[in-house]
Order: sequence, then structure tokens, then C-alpha cells
Amino acid sequence: MMNETTRTYDVIVIGAGPVGENVAERTRAAGLSTVIVERELLGGECSFWACDPSKALLRPVVARADARRVPGLSHAVAGPLDVEAVLAHRDKMSSYWKDDDQVDWLDSVSVDLVRGHGRLDGPRKVSVQTPEGDTVRLTARYAVAVSTGTSAALPGIPGLENVRPWTSREATSSDRVPARLVVVGGGVVAVEMATVWQALGSQVTMLVLEDGLLQRMEPFAGELVTDGLREAGVDIRFGTSAASVGRENGEVRVSLTDGGELVADEILLATGRAPRTWDLGLETIGLTPGDWLKVDDTFRVTDVADGWFYAVGDVNQRALLTHQGKYQARIAGTVIGARAKGEQVDDAPWGTHVATADRTAVPQVVFTHPEVASVGLTTREAEQSGRRIKVVDYDLSHVAGAHQYADGYRGQARMLIDLDRDTVAGVTFAGPGVGELLHSATIAVAGEVPIDRLWHAVPAFPTISEVWLRLLETHRG
Ligand SMILES: Cc1cc2nc3c(=O)[nH]c(=O)nc-3n(C[C@H](O)[C@H](O)[C@H](O)COP(=O)(O)OP(=O)(O)OC[C@H]3O[C@@H](n4cnc5c(N)ncnc54)[C@H](O)[C@@H]3O)c2cc1C
Repeated sequence: MMNETTRTYDVIVIGAGPVGENVAERTRAAGLSTVIVERELLGGECSFWACDPSKALLRPVVARADARRVPGLSHAVAGPLDVEAVLAHRDKMSSYWKDDDQVDWLDSVSVDLVRGHGRLDGPRKVSVQTPEGDTVRLTARYAVAVSTGTSAALPGIPGLENVRPWTSREATSSDRVPARLVVVGGGVVAVEMATVWQALGSQVTMLVLEDGLLQRMEPFAGELVTDGLREAGVDIRFGTSAASVGRENGEVRVSLTDGGELVADEILLATGRAPRTWDLGLETIGLTPGDWLKVDDTFRVTDVADGWFYAVGDVNQRALLTHQGKYQARIAGTVIGARAKGEQVDDAPWGTHVATADRTAVPQVVFTHPEVASVGLTTREAEQSGRRIKVVDYDLSHVAGAHQYADGYRGQARMLIDLDRDTVAGVTFAGPGVGELLHSATIAVAGEVPIDRLWHAVPAFPTISEVWLRLLETHRG
């Protein structure tokens, strides 16, 4: 017989990815009783089908590519990767797709868990369908926060329904290396997964509708990554995509928009993300299922009255990155706590209860070979913003630390200076090993460190960080 239970909490969180978990931890820390609802695994996309497995797959690939450029070491790493060991490492880093550790952690922070699919059921109410077929009816005294994340957005390519394409989930969790893999798309997931599967033994062909990779970043980033992928053997085709697809005798046949044809073993669609709001009961509170949830800077959904409804992380479309979602979660959890206690809300820019960095200082690393690391504005965004910006470029291969890092190091750095404020508005680095350089740039941008003071931040010799000095010298002429 199916059971129905009813419970009341101060806060209900739907979705226990990295973001939902952090919202719940903060509301609990603020002394509010909190329940979290999860239909798959605690840890969400990031732990099991995105960040963790993808970076576990990339690490051996990138380390080998780096080592191949180090004199005295290159011969030792000339051979192929141990595919079985790489996949086993990926499995371990994905906790073998089990969430016991995260359940223990949730327990340790005294947040209750209800497993099942959560749907809104009118203001402040959530109904959960458990795997056993029971219904748990939850009511929130203060707030409901949705952190349901995103899924792969599939384009309307004729024939797709019969092909069983790979999405980011299969690309990060597959145990099989397809002999031939077609990757559709030219964004971050596409370039990272092309890097992985080519190195593991697939012949990868990328179909990129645009005329370059990583179109949201500085153009030199996409160009350097293109060169890196081509050197690794990836066939990149710009200005074309899949017009239709079909599967025959196990093979995928792809007709291209430029008239050509390809045959492969698998096709990966890396064509963007869609919010998981289809089956969330949004219609019961006057919103449209399938839409992104628009929020203010304290993560209240703007189109819902009475301020009880929050959307945090990927689902609000502000910055589809784990670290940025967790930043949002820290803020959302804290502000929910403050409002519940009737405390003053500090929502002036850079205040405790407002996500200012979401707009001005979002860091991102693309873990390819070479890597790309960026924060703040790109040149195109700066032009659109109308701010007075100076673009300062420096060739990373001229930095002493880069010579030490690898033979024939190639890379590029760009710093955007806000001429009215005399601060750094954006930085992009592209080159091997630059990911670990990024936080220096994030501090400069988020901290609005004056250029005159940055001049006194001396980078150690001989590190790639000396690019900071070279950029400032170039700026000062
Ligand atoms: C291949 C790939 C690689 C990535 N690599 C990185 C990286 O290196 N660094 C980085 O910062 N970001 C990376 N990202 C982005 C990162 O994965 C997301 O930004 C992050 O997972 C968002 O966290 P979230 O908690 O908002 O959503 P999710 O992680 O998607 O979690 C949402 C949770 O909600 C649950 N849920 C959904 N609907 C319901 C419902 N109705 N009821 C109950 N539960 C529900 C889901 O089951 C899921 O557990 C990557 C993304 C992809 C696709």
C-alpha cells in the first residue's frame, strides 16, 4: 500500500548537487531546520557525470602531454596511456557512482534527506514521489530553494531518436573507447572530451558550426586549443554540423550540413545545457516549466511574490560552474537565515548577502592541452559594456618560467585594464599549466586591486606567474 506522510521544515532544498548541498548546510548552520530532496545521487552531476570524472580522465592525458615536452623525460612517456588504469582512476574519483560518503556528510551537518522526485505543489509546498511509490508532502516555513541543475540540451537533428547519442554523461562514464567518435560542438565540454577520447585511442572528429572553438572566450584561447587538438590528431571541421544521423549495423552515419558524410561508432552531442525545470511543478506557482529561473542577486526568483522561492546554481543560468554555484549557495543559505531571523540584509555590492562576483569575476579553467584560464571580462564583453578598457597582450613563451616548464612552450596572456578605475577588469591565460595561475587574476579582479599596487606584487622567478610583471611592464611601456 502506498503511504503518504506530511512534514514541515523551515527550509526545503530540491536537488542535492554541490549547490543544493551547500545551501542546506548554510541554512542549517543558521539554525533553520532543513530537508533536502534528491532523486538520483547526492553530489549531483558534478560528482558523477561532469567535473570529477572529466578531470580524472583529463589529468593523465594532460600530464603526459606536458611530460612529453620535458627534456630527459619525453622518451619515458612516448607510449600510449594505460587505458584500463585511466578508466579505473576515473571510476575511483567518481566514488564508483555511490553517494554513501555524501549521505554521511549530510547526516553530520544535521540536514534531513528525502530520496525521490520533488515537485512544487503551490507556494511553500513540495511533494516528493519516493522510489517506493510513497508520497512525502513537505511544507516550508520560510523558503524553498531549487538547485536542480541542468541536463544536456539536445539539438533537433533528424534521426537522433534512433541513434542513442552520447551526452556529457556517457562521455564521462563510458567503459568503452569507441574506435571513431564524432563530437558535435565547440564549447568547453566538446574540447575537453575530444582531448580525453583522442588520447584514449578514439579517432575523434569535431563538427563545429562556428569558425572557431571556445567562442565565448578570447579568440587566441580557441586558436591555441585548436592547434593542441590537431597536434593530438583530432580532425576539427569548422562551419559544419550534423544535418541528420542514423545508426545501421552498430555504426553511426552522419550527414553533414556541408554535404559530406561521416561514419563513426559513437556521436557525442556537446551542444549546451537545459535547465531541469520541466517536471518541477513550476506551473503550480505561476511559472513556465522548462524555463531558466531568473533571480535577483540574493537568489530570490524575481517572478514569484512573497520572497519564499529561491533558485541557486546552474538552474538560474548565471554561471554554469560548480565553484560559482557553491558561492551562490553560501550567499543564498546565509541570506535565507538572515531573513528568517529578521536580521538586516547586507545586499549592497560586495555585501555578505549578495553575489556580486557572479557579474564581474567568474573564474573558469578549460582543462585541455594547452589549458585556458579566464576571469572577468573578455575584450568583446568590454566593448559591449562601453567601459574605457585597454587591452594588454603578452606572449607567454617569453616568460622564463615557461621556458623551464616545457620545451617549445606556447601560450598567450591578455589583461584588460579599466582605465577609469585603474584596475584589472579581465584576464585570460592560454598555455600549459596556466590553470593554477588563475586565482591570482581572480583576486586582482574581485579585489579591484589598483594597478599601482599590483606593481608591488612581485612574482617569483622563474615561474610562469612572472607574466604578471611582463603584462604590467607592457602596460606602462
Ligand atoms: C562534462 C562537464 C564537465 C564539467 N566540468 C566542470 C568543472 O571542471 N568545473 C566546474 O566548475 N564546473 C564544471 N561543470 C559544470 C558543473 O557540473 C555544474 O555547474 C554543477 O554540477 C552545477 O551544480 P548544481 O548543484 O547546480 O546542479 P547539478 O550538479 O546538476 O545537481 C542537481 C541535482 O538535482 C537533482 N534533481 C533535479 N531535479 C530534481 C527533482 N525534481 N527532484 C529531486 N532532485 C532533483 C539531480 O538529480 C542532481 O543531483 C561541468 C559540466 C559538465 C557537463
